[in-house]
Amino acid sequence: MPIYMKNLFVNQLKSHSGFFFAPWVLLFVLSGIIPSISFSQSTSSPKKQSHAHQHGKGSLELTLEKNILNGTLELPLEALLGFEHSPKTSAEKLALSTLEKSLASLHLWFTVSKNASCTESKTSFERQTSSKHSDLLYTFSFICEKPEALQELHLLFLKEYQRVQEIQVIYVNQVGQRSIVVKRNSPILRF
Ligand SMILES: [Zn+2]
Repeated sequence: MPIYMKNLFVNQLKSHSGFFFAPWVLLFVLSGIIPSISFSQSTSSPKKQSHAHQHGKGSLELTLEKNILNGTLELPLEALLGFEHSPKTSAEKLALSTLEKSLASLHLWFTVSKNASCTESKTSFERQTSSKHSDLLYTFSFICEKPEALQELHLLFLKEYQRVQEIQVIYVNQVGQRSIVVKRNSPILRF
């Protein structure tokens, strides 16, 4: 492909990725309310949209590299907040700040097998918007002393957010790649 076509292609990807820093994210960064959360500038490393926006469904990409389990969870904000637009009323603002506080605590969202002796590492989140819809993009890591003992990942948020019906999981390790669907009535992923 000629270089100018490649550039065109990259530009199109960027313009369609729809990432932006929501004002509420910036506010939290500036005020330092959640200092443990790092926010990545999404335009510098555009991530492809891993699934089509569909209410009630989410996606999770998991990668085990040596002793680090990296995850990216993508969920419609509608399922988490009951709305997708920027918060306007005081009730909507409260719902959003409650969600943000929750995201700072990875153990409220996921836990892994205790025998693997994992500790939570960095987490970050951003809001991804296209037309009238918004998704949460939540990235996290566990660092494990005994990754060979990793047997289960519990998707705790499925109990909290009942609008989420299922999560399409892609799990990658050194052996290969698996695709698994986790339903809300059985919210445990077995590696
Ligand atoms: Zn939507």
